[in-house]
Amino acid sequence: MIGKFRAAALALAVLTPPAASAELPPSPFKDAYIEGAAYLRTVMPPGEGTRLEGAALYLLGNIAATLFHDFGHALKSELQLPIVAAHESAADSFAHVVMVARVDDPALDLMVRTVAESYFIDGRLRETDPLADNALGAHAMSDHRAHAVICMLVGSDPLLFKASADRAAMTPEVRAACKAEYADSLAAWGYLLQPHLLGDTDEGGGAFTIAYDPPQPGFEAIAKFLQASGIVEAAAGELQGMIRLPHDLNLRIANCGKAEASWQPRTRTIVFCYETALAYSQTAMDLTEATLATSAP
Ligand SMILES: [Zn+2]
Repeated sequence: MIGKFRAAALALAVLTPPAASAELPPSPFKDAYIEGAAYLRTVMPPGEGTRLEGAALYLLGNIAATLFHDFGHALKSELQLPIVAAHESAADSFAHVVMVARVDDPALDLMVRTVAESYFIDGRLRETDPLADNALGAHAMSDHRAHAVICMLVGSDPLLFKASADRAAMTPEVRAACKAEYADSLAAWGYLLQPHLLGDTDEGGGAFTIAYDPPQPGFEAIAKFLQASGIVEAAAGELQGMIRLPHDLNLRIANCGKAEASWQPRTRTIVFCYETALAYSQTAMDLTEATLATSAP
């Protein structure tokens, strides 16, 4: 599995030109980037240079986006938020509005951008979401969902996400419409979350208890990547530092038997599966360097 993990990392490394991590301001996501890349350096052959930083950004970005999506589900039930849209769309909207707008962190922006740029190659959806196989197909990365995600991101910052919009072949009219749509989403989430936001002097609310199950054979390397990077702790810390959670929540990294991530309201637990993180690296092997050579920005 380490071999596969390594091959995936190599293929991904050409996606996004890595930023010099030294230029990023201090943050838990920057630390996750540095530590995640440092771990990859120990499992990749020497001489790969800075290309592995692109791989680290892609993996961390997908993991963070999945966690924030499930934070959206958790907040809907914990804060009893009224949601008009389909729950999956609302969770996506929460994840992207919060990751891009509320969290002022260039390291996180870089991760989100890397994920967004990977959705489309030459205007065609590149289907690689491991969560698409789950029982209800609720998280399937359909063409529609991918466009919705990119629309939110492009609406927030047309320049930062220009490459994503270009790859999705978005017209200028669509980009302009996305700007308005993003503004509406931002205002709606601001309205819904305002009563629950923590002020600087607040003592805080509930906190996450994070637990890693011992990884089953085959998941050792991805488990080490998760723990070494601290990406789960960074994402959880962001949410509990932003929102006054009415109860303590659990976040469990587990062996599930399939790629999945879910919010389980009865036990107030978010389960993030090792299979999901590993699948993000395995499906990335579809991204051959030849494909990317024709579509790289
Ligand atoms: Zn969901």
